[in-house]
Amino acid sequence: MFGKNHGHGGLTFDVPPAMDAAEAARIAFDHDLSLSKHHFVEGEHPVVRIEHLMKTFDGETQVLRDVNLNVWNGEIVVVLGPSGSGKSTMLRCINLLETPTAGHILIDDDEITGKSAKEVGLIRRDLGMVFQSFNLFPHLTALENVMIGQTKVLKKNKDEARAEAVKQLEAVGLGDRIDYKPPQLSGGQQQRVAIARAVAMHPKVLLFDEPTSALDPELVRDVLGVMRELALHGDMTMIVVTHEMGFARDVGDRVVFMEGGVVVEQGLPEQVFDNPQHDRTKQFLGSIK
Ligand code: ADP
Ligand code: MG
Repeated sequence: MFGKNHGHGGLTFDVPPAMDAAEAARIAFDHDLSLSKHHFVEGEHPVVRIEHLMKTFDGETQVLRDVNLNVWNGEIVVVLGPSGSGKSTMLRCINLLETPTAGHILIDDDEITGKSAKEVGLIRRDLGMVFQSFNLFPHLTALENVMIGQTKVLKKNKDEARAEAVKQLEAVGLGDRIDYKPPQLSGGQQQRVAIARAVAMHPKVLLFDEPTSALDPELVRDVLGVMRELALHGDMTMIVVTHEMGFARDVGDRVVFMEGGVVVEQGLPEQVFDNPQHDRTKQFLGSIK
C-alpha cells in the first residue's frame, strides 16, 4: 500500500500515500495544539500539510530527509535553522519552484505534488513568496510591479489592479513612491514593494525566505514592521524563514527549528527559545545570541 516515488539517480523512496484528510486533520490538531498560539477551532483542517517531504539534488545530495509539518489558517510559523539545513528548499517545494523528490504537500487538502505544468501555474497563485533579493522588475515602477501579477496571472482589469496596488503600497508605507522604479528605491523600500506585490495576489499562504538578510541594518526594522503589521492585523497565513529572533519571539505563533533536512523541534516561541529540548537547538540558539 505504499506509493513509490522515484528519485533521480539511484535513490528511491517509499513513502505512504497522503493521509485521509479528516484523519490527518485530527492527528495534526492533537499534535499542534500545545505547540502554537494559533486559535484552534475544533474540526479545522490545516491549510498546508506536508507529509514525508524529501528532496534530493543530483541523485545523491539529500537536502530534505523527511519533513512533516502542518500550518493552520492565519498562523505565523517562523522557521529557524543553520545555513544549509534545507529551509529555502522546503519553501521552494511548497510553491513548486522545486519538484519534491518524494512525499506530499497539500493545500486545503488538495495534493499539489505530481501535477502538470498547467496545474502548477494555478496552484502557485495560492502561494506568495517574498525573496531575500526582492526580485522586482527593475524597469517597471513600484505600481506596475504590484499590478503585473494581478493583470497577467489573475486577469484582473487595469483599474481594479491599480486600485489594489495603490492600497497595498499605502499599507506598506509607500503611497508616495508608487511611480518610482526599483533602482530609485532603497533595499528596504524595494522589499516593501515585494511584500505589497505578494499580498495583492491574496494568496492562501505567504512564504518569506530571509526577507531582511540582504538589507542594511537600519532598513531591517521597516520591513519587519510591515511584516509584523501583516501578521498581527491581517488574516494572512505566513511561513517566515528568518534569523530575526526578536520577530520570531514576538510575532511567531510557532517556531520550527530545522537542521539536516528535518524538523528537529517546534513549539511556542517561549518554549523553543527559553527551554529548547534538543541539543542541536540549544547549540544553534547559543551560537546566535
Ligand atoms: P538553507 O535555506 O537552510 O540555508 P537550502 O535549502 O538553501 O538551505 O540548501 C540546503 C542544501 O541544499 C545546501 O547544502 C545546498 O547547497 C543544497 N542545494 C540547494 N539547492 C540546490 C541545487 N539546486 N542543487 C544542488 N544542491 C542544492
Ligand atoms: Mg536559505
